[in-house]
Amino acid sequence: MGESNNKIICPDCEAIIEMNVDTAVGDILECSECGTEVELLSKDPLKYSELTEQK
Ligand SMILES: [Zn+2]
Repeated sequence: MGESNNKIICPDCEAIIEMNVDTAVGDILECSECGTEVELLSKDPLKYSELTEQK
């Protein structure tokens, strides 16, 4: 399979958030469309969760 599967879908606006090769588990990725922050929980299989800020 030559298809890359390292794409995170923003839970808020469904935009694609692409990971860098050096993105590590525990890193926080930010959606470029809406600014939602997503924490990478696992790379294989790909798991992530939306960060909910307490204000
Ligand atoms: Zn978004």
